[in-house]
Amino acid sequence: MLGGIDLHLHLDGSVTAEDAIFLAERSSIELPKHSAEALRGYLTAPKRCADLKEYLERFEIPLKLLERPENVAYATRSLVKRLAASGMRYAEIRFAPGLLTAGGASQREVAVTACQAFVAAKEEFGLEGGLIFCAMRAGALTPQENEETARLSAEFLGKGVVGIDLAGDEAKDFPSDHARVFAVAREAGVPITIHAGEAGGADKIRDAIALGARRIGHGVRCVEDDSLVAELAERGIALETCYTSNLNTGACTERTFPLRALMRRGVRVTLNTDNMTVSDTDLATEYASLGITDEEKRLLLENAKKAAFAAVGSL
Ligand SMILES: [Zn+2]
Repeated sequence: MLGGIDLHLHLDGSVTAEDAIFLAERSSIELPKHSAEALRGYLTAPKRCADLKEYLERFEIPLKLLERPENVAYATRSLVKRLAASGMRYAEIRFAPGLLTAGGASQREVAVTACQAFVAAKEEFGLEGGLIFCAMRAGALTPQENEETARLSAEFLGKGVVGIDLAGDEAKDFPSDHARVFAVAREAGVPITIHAGEAGGADKIRDAIALGARRIGHGVRCVEDDSLVAELAERGIALETCYTSNLNTGACTERTFPLRALMRRGVRVTLNTDNMTVSDTDLATEYASLGITDEEKRLLLENAKKAAFAAVGSL
């Protein structure tokens, strides 16, 4: 999408079926299907999932493939190439290095490889942006592993990394249960975004802001709390909304997705893809699905430019 900005895009959820087949073959990993068409059913979620679990199952194969650092490098380059070819100007790509160590690589090796691949690809294909390292909630990683992610985000800030995130099952805990992770990030000046207000309520968004989050991943349930909406608008805290993903997981319906209501109330709202393969989408599709007008597009891109963790050149 010409001049597009995507601030919320997961690497693991955006591995194509074709790349998955290539990576599985070169790493001798068994796949349930061997044609791209058949494999897509395992990588792409139904339009309306029965529950969040049905959506999250789509990450199992890509996560397995990305347990090899060389595959993280390949997938990163491939995604940057596709984004640049679509006319994307700036993108922030996120993933959890701590989830990719089962193959024997350390978080640090994963981080180094991903940063090198991203920096090289952005030069090669002409894309601005950076990587966001995700800490994981609800016991997916230990507190020590999450703190290591925070330290790595600090070490590689400006060398590929632009921020830190907290991802995973929001229902099970509060962002402040991971306070130490964000203390490390704040101390090092790493910009913070936190998934909140998607499966969880407005209280989780407030909790994320108290930890220093400058942006909120999704955040659509802020509309349940009028004073929170006012605070988001006043403080310029950006929401990274993702329409198709919210429809897939049932976080929103076509009718309740609050993008326009939040734009009217002056919240710095942005529109993003979340997972290009799992949600079978791209940024142009997100804009088209919502019938975004040229005027709305200008505002959304202006919001994204202000919210970006690194400088965005002219669009
Ligand atoms: Zn996300």
